[in-house]
Amino acid sequence: MEGLLCLWRLSVRIRVLGSAAGGGFPQWNCGCANCRGVREGSLKALPRSQESVAVSADGEQWFLLNASPEIRQQIESFPSLHPREPRHSPLAAVLLTNGDLDHCLGLLSLRESHPLVVYATDRLRRGFTEGNVLYRTLERTPEQVTWRALKAGREEELAGRDGRGSGLLVEAVPVPGKPPIHLERAFPPDPEDSVAFRIRQRASGRVLAYFSGVARVTAEVRKALDDADCVLFDGTFWSDDELPSQGLGSKRAAEMAHVPIGGPGGSLASLAGLSASRRIYIHINNTNPILREDSPERAAVVAAGWEVAWDGMEVAL
Ligand SMILES: [Zn+2]
Ligand SMILES: [Zn+2]
Repeated sequence: MEGLLCLWRLSVRIRVLGSAAGGGFPQWNCGCANCRGVREGSLKALPRSQESVAVSADGEQWFLLNASPEIRQQIESFPSLHPREPRHSPLAAVLLTNGDLDHCLGLLSLRESHPLVVYATDRLRRGFTEGNVLYRTLERTPEQVTWRALKAGREEELAGRDGRGSGLLVEAVPVPGKPPIHLERAFPPDPEDSVAFRIRQRASGRVLAYFSGVARVTAEVRKALDDADCVLFDGTFWSDDELPSQGLGSKRAAEMAHVPIGGPGGSLASLAGLSASRRIYIHINNTNPILREDSPERAAVVAAGWEVAWDGMEVAL
């Protein structure tokens, strides 16, 4: 029993707060078959909010991976993130993968004079803070936001403002991506535009690989996933022409920096054989057929040993 208790204490808790790509499911201005069906209740599919995940090794200090525009409801949806004192939050820090608004906008909603710690690349910090008048809401006091620079290939222990260790080490892994749309003309592309995280528990050595936005599965991406115990991976689109084929604009998945799941160059094929015991698609666009629980695409994903993230899903690492 004691041994069991010990194992339970050791495990890292991973809670999916939001599992959809930008826009959510359904998306406010979308009348695609999926969005219509989920609104009408005629589809075997769950609505989903925009992607965000909470991680903790001790159940006390929680780290948020991406801050979605739906952050307030997402925090309320998970009692572990509720305050334990009149002014308090178990949220020790926020980690950002890239500057897309569906990943950053939630920061501006955490403005109730609460000190925040944010981990991001220098590039992302500059893109979010420079010339952004709305950011002033997080600069009302000099100490309101502490930015900690993530550097590719450097592993560091995650900590909140008090510097207390969390038992979790993070390494930022640059992944093929692009700058956020509102900065595409401002900067040339940079390797630090998009990163993924390898989060390793010091005590067990177990690794969560959080790769929610990946344009291509390169040898480096594959290598960073090879020894992970749990993989959360970009599940935005099933096919490269998903939007044009449904009459929803002209952009292909590749132009939006997301490798599709299906097809010969898709992630299902290129990530075959990963040893992780949990392999989960997250950041799923509302057009993606894997959202429909009875679709052939969902069946293909499940047959290959992958799961599809949903809001409220929990994984113990
Ligand atoms: Zn996104
Ligand atoms: Zn839609």
